[in-house]
Amino acid sequence: MPLQKCQDCGKDVSNSAKSCPHCGKPTRESITVIKRKGSKFEAIGFILIVCGVLISYITSSLLGHTLGGLMIFTGFIIFLVGRFL
Ligand SMILES: [Zn+2]
Repeated sequence: MPLQKCQDCGKDVSNSAKSCPHCGKPTRESITVIKRKGSKFEAIGFILIVCGVLISYITSSLLGHTLGGLMIFTGFIIFLVGRFL
């Protein structure tokens, strides 16, 4: 099992451990997972915004523009939510 050094107490901690068993500090691994959770939302929001812009550009109907606008709006909110996660 690969080991990493705890950033707080310097003892060996398993890579699969979510926190240090010696002092309880969260490992780098679990911090990365938390970061990824937010960036996943950012990615979904970004895709929605891009799709919304594309739909508004491609279509000339009012329905397409409304749909595109809604997608941009929703994507923007999801993107913001991801930012604060
Ligand atoms: Zn520790």
